[in-house]
Amino acid sequence: MSTVLSEPKLPAGVKLPIYMDNHATTAMDPRVLEAMIPFFSNKFGNAASRNHSFGWEAEQAVDLAREQIAKLIGATAKEIIFTSGATESNNLAIKGIGEMYRERGNHIITQVTEHKAVLDTCKRMEKQGYRVTYLPVNADGLIEMEDLKRAIDDKTILVTIMAANNEIGVIQPVAEIGKLCHERGILFHTDAVQAVGKIPVDVNAMNIDVLSLTAHKIYGPKGVGALYVRRRNPRVQIAAQMDGGGHERGMRSGTLNVPGIVGLGKACEIARLEMAEETEKLLAMRDRLRKKLESNLDFIHVNGSMEHHLPGNLNMSFIHVEGESLLMGINDIAVSSGSACTSATLEPSYVLKALGLGDDVAHSSIRFGLGRFNTPAEVDYVADKVVDVVRKLRELSPLYEMAKEGIDLTKVQWQAH
Ligand SMILES: *Cc1c(COP(=O)(O)O)cnc(C)c1O
Repeated sequence: MSTVLSEPKLPAGVKLPIYMDNHATTAMDPRVLEAMIPFFSNKFGNAASRNHSFGWEAEQAVDLAREQIAKLIGATAKEIIFTSGATESNNLAIKGIGEMYRERGNHIITQVTEHKAVLDTCKRMEKQGYRVTYLPVNADGLIEMEDLKRAIDDKTILVTIMAANNEIGVIQPVAEIGKLCHERGILFHTDAVQAVGKIPVDVNAMNIDVLSLTAHKIYGPKGVGALYVRRRNPRVQIAAQMDGGGHERGMRSGTLNVPGIVGLGKACEIARLEMAEETEKLLAMRDRLRKKLESNLDFIHVNGSMEHHLPGNLNMSFIHVEGESLLMGINDIAVSSGSACTSATLEPSYVLKALGLGDDVAHSSIRFGLGRFNTPAEVDYVADKVVDVVRKLRELSPLYEMAKEGIDLTKVQWQAH
């Protein structure tokens, strides 16, 4: 005899799998795709072709995109340099400034929860004779301004601190950092990938000199990004890291990715026009998710300051649950865990460790990344599913039982067998 188990009926508006990993990448907005399509077909010109209408048409489209991007961050069109994405933008900013200002000094300041595209670039700079200070963060994920002030010396040429963190959504005090840097005559670069299009960013109000952004985190295509490079007060100089035809004012040679650039421009325009409304929607969903989890589960906590936080981010630790089992249990939901897959081993996230989390707590953490296309019905499904799986896993966990009885697990003496 066999029992037929039917899957519970899904609520209206929910289709599996659910995508809730919008810090890793975002789906393209259909309006972005629509703007790009002609540039894959009949409008195929090279934006650098000066002798015919095919080139002019492409150049015009690129110019419009420059305007759209500039407008989102309070810059001017001439200050936008196109790249292949934020990894390249970060490399170009740090290496290009390091090389150009080498006579003035060799000291760079960054912080420990930066994206690898900044950290690994800084490590390479160290190999080439630069000194790098990696500022710590407090338990909330924020740098301390006092630490930054103390780190500055007369050889400091660059401060590179991200605007918002891709794992824990924490927003650094960018305006304060920019103000301090300008007072001291030091250039300020920010990896603003997660901030641009999500929270207001203004390069003048915030004293940002150089800023990295990328299209695929703001509902645009992959493989295209930009670097904002300030042209006055001060005029920033960047040594090219790619030699060739002298495109992008000599800072980044290579035929422009016209369809991608058109998409990036459109994505920025949509973000600028819809940011306020979208933020409210994301905040409501984020808080709904958090409340549902917190009212149904104990031994959980939010990572990163909630006061300085991206609207679409929720990073939570589910203590006394094994991280891999948790992810396996919710495999119809696309989220990220507090483990980074480096080679064959599962390493706990260096960002969560920097906040002071232990390895197991880091492993039992989940980053929920809400985005433009998520719905409240999806949030409910995700919350119910996570609650269900965490409860089931804890039923099997003697550690959870002990913790619930009030036994301090850090003081238990385990006996080896
Ligand atoms: C995604 C991301 C990057 C890398 O951007 P790519 O365009 O994928 O190279 C850099 N910094 C942060 C904070 C990111 O989230």
